[in-house]
Amino acid sequence: MSIAFNIKTLRLAVSNNVEIVAVSKTKPVSDILEAYQAGQRIFGENRVQEMLTKQVELPSDIEWHLIGHLQTNKVKFIAPFVRMVHSVDSFKLLNEINIQATKNKRVIDCLLQFYIASEETKFGLSLGEAFDILDNPLFSNFKNIRIAGVMGMASCSDNMDLVRSEFKQLHQIFETLKLKYFSTNPGFRHISMGMSGDYLLAIEEGATMIRVGSLIFGGRKG
Ligand SMILES: *Cc1c(COP(=O)(O)O)cnc(C)c1O
Repeated sequence: MSIAFNIKTLRLAVSNNVEIVAVSKTKPVSDILEAYQAGQRIFGENRVQEMLTKQVELPSDIEWHLIGHLQTNKVKFIAPFVRMVHSVDSFKLLNEINIQATKNKRVIDCLLQFYIASEETKFGLSLGEAFDILDNPLFSNFKNIRIAGVMGMASCSDNMDLVRSEFKQLHQIFETLKLKYFSTNPGFRHISMGMSGDYLLAIEEGATMIRVGSLIFGGRKG
């Protein structure tokens, strides 16, 4: 099936209030252009260098989302254009995104990434660590970032009960933070969860944003 077909089928399968991030990592610019021509505008990459190389070759109205682990020293490269960083997992990183966004006279949307999987290899905050970030007195001075919600990756598992419980956990974290810090802030609204194998489950559990790669672009090598 073509990329355009896959995009349109996915768009029909999920309701309009769920945003689709087309995860284009490892895929060529020509594939991204095909998705773009089918109407897709939000693309996710997990590596800074790869995003930079693609961004200069592609239409400027693409919304680029960084979904992978981000090193502080690389923020400056993407700050001129990146729309959202899904993978904020420290105060230091948030501080640097604010600094670089300020230099570029921009506001960058950020999601706090939580550790919800039962796998050691995944990145992310605990709820306590998120409290520490949001309670930090310096946080209220950050004018060039906006905390737009939360992100998480479920376990890579066929056990759908386990995956569902992890999605429930992220939804609960979202509600807890909303109540405690963002009750008057409509900008805090996103739950980024669900990938090719589990996006329907994620939507059932309240995802507002899904990150789908292989279902759109086909499998990746390696
Ligand atoms: C690769 C990746 C995805 C998409 O994975 P698929 O299974 O191909 O849909 C989603 N989120 C993150 C953080 C990823 O690195």
